[in-house]
Amino acid sequence: MRQRIAVYGGTFDPIHYGHLRVAEAILKAFAMDRTLFVPAFVPPHKRSQQISSPFHRLAMLALATANQPRMFVSAIELEAPQRPYTIETLGRLQSELGDVQLFFVMGADSFRDVTMWREHERLLTEYDVIVATRPGYESDKNIVAHLAPQLQSRCVDLRGCQAPSSEHFAEPHVYLTDYVAMDVSATAIREAVEQQQSIEHLVSPAVAAYIEKYQLYRKS
Ligand code: ATP
Repeated sequence: MRQRIAVYGGTFDPIHYGHLRVAEAILKAFAMDRTLFVPAFVPPHKRSQQISSPFHRLAMLALATANQPRMFVSAIELEAPQRPYTIETLGRLQSELGDVQLFFVMGADSFRDVTMWREHERLLTEYDVIVATRPGYESDKNIVAHLAPQLQSRCVDLRGCQAPSSEHFAEPHVYLTDYVAMDVSATAIREAVEQQQSIEHLVSPAVAAYIEKYQLYRKS
């Protein structure tokens, strides 16, 4: 049987419990072999914002996943000569990893904008995609309304905490899931740090310590 690998892309500035709980739930529900967190060099939709250096974001990912045997971090986008698009990263991972089944993970907010992504039709037809709900998106019946009909027909609605069945894995699908709905965002964490509020319940202890040590997210 082909190995199943979840590829979780994002800015991760910083990685938080929302990401980690989603990754854990997907590992379990899809019987994944591992999750690969792939920090983006400069995500196309966030170019105007201040983003921590890729090295800080990678270090926090490594700290947050150090004790998780099936969670790994990949620097593939940070080492690319030019900022890659997701479809290119998945192609490179596929050729590096060989005959494995890649499942790209994205939150419901990213999925809402996916039609703006480079070659989104190819992304949603050639690879498996797992959409993780976020608070505010749970009961969104029209979550796929923005997709062309042939893409909508590839969607498998697993909301209600259902697991996929093995027949699904024969060809790529877009899985809509709601295993975790954790109201946490990296933006809220950066704001909390700036306002000197506790972030203990939002990030793992090593990440909180790293943010403090390197004085990340402090304006002055
Ligand atoms: P920011 O607040 O800076 O936009 P973020 O918290 O959304 O950051 P990202 O690093 O941009 O975090 O997210 C990477 C991926 O994880 C995206 O696809 C995003 O939708 C998803 N994601 C982030 N937080 C959650 C969450 N709480 N639940 C489910 N998915 C999430």
